[in-house]
Amino acid sequence: MVYDAIIIGSGPAGLTSSIYTSRAGLKTLVVAGTMWGGQLMLTREVENFPGFENGILGPKLMEEMRKQAERCGAELIFESATSADFTSKPLRVNAGNKVYEAKTVIIATGASAKWLGLESETRLRGRGVSVCATCDAPFFRNRKVVVVGGGDTAMEEALFLSKVVSEVKVIHRRDKLRACKWLQEKAFADLKISFVWNSTVAEILGKDRVEGVKLRNIDSGKESVLSCDAVFLAIGYTPNTSIFRNQIELDSTGYVVAREETRTNIEGIFVAGDVADYRYRQAIAAAGSGCKAALDAEKYLLEA
Ligand code: NAP
Repeated sequence: MVYDAIIIGSGPAGLTSSIYTSRAGLKTLVVAGTMWGGQLMLTREVENFPGFENGILGPKLMEEMRKQAERCGAELIFESATSADFTSKPLRVNAGNKVYEAKTVIIATGASAKWLGLESETRLRGRGVSVCATCDAPFFRNRKVVVVGGGDTAMEEALFLSKVVSEVKVIHRRDKLRACKWLQEKAFADLKISFVWNSTVAEILGKDRVEGVKLRNIDSGKESVLSCDAVFLAIGYTPNTSIFRNQIELDSTGYVVAREETRTNIEGIFVAGDVADYRYRQAIAAAGSGCKAALDAEKYLLEA
């Protein structure tokens, strides 16, 4: 069977696209991934997604979007796309050892957490090194932890951890946070959270589990050791585009290059959400671009 639209990704961008394509009567397959739902599955309270007076939990919001997509007629498979062939028509997407064919594809694969690139970080991943406080905070109840980064994610991680652990030290490479004002204020007011400015993590210490970090001061180059039981990394994201390399145009940092909003350089392939957006990276922006990609795909099919 040839689908009208295959949507790769099931975050706000992918699911919004699927709601629009399904409601437009397009036969839609969502390749949702083995870990469906995208980044909001790893967040807690979302206060800036319109429609929820008192905010909503990220996973709950995604569950509602998924049910809405299914009710509108989208078919979801919980496999990850492993490769794609956009060189011929119909377009082909491989997932779970099967080949799926479609007239259009919407790429909405999002972006993944960045790592520091240290050998010690890889070795101690899951042994105290984490990129998800929601997932791993309970393992460090009443222990000392470090959060690396100065953005919204870092502050959210620090605030979440402070409810469980005894002490949170935020390591930031500058002397100013990038995080929004209200998160900064909350973090500064939290007595369990303190900051180490102008510093980077040179090494994560410990043989079988995290025992501390070696810090390097950016200005003086001076190194110091801080003992801790866990290191939570919150230093941004990398777009999930490795399977599209050599298939569609990517920029030098790996984001899909979008033209006229959601079109890619290949006819019939559209893009939505964080995989093409290093600037806004908000769920509502991703959902909005998902809507645009679906409308563009629909128009393309009408004109084809
Ligand atoms: P981000 O805004 O890109 O911040 C990454 C932080 O990590 C920055 O402070 C950066 O330092 C630091 N960093 C990057 N690479 C580093 C390295 N190799 N070593 C040490 N530090 C490094 O990423 P984010 O905080 O994950 O946020 C991503 C987007 O999602 C943002 O647009 C954010 O507003 C949004 N977001 C919103 C919410 C919310 O509204 N509740 C929650 C989470 C995320 P510099 O500051 O020096 O660049």
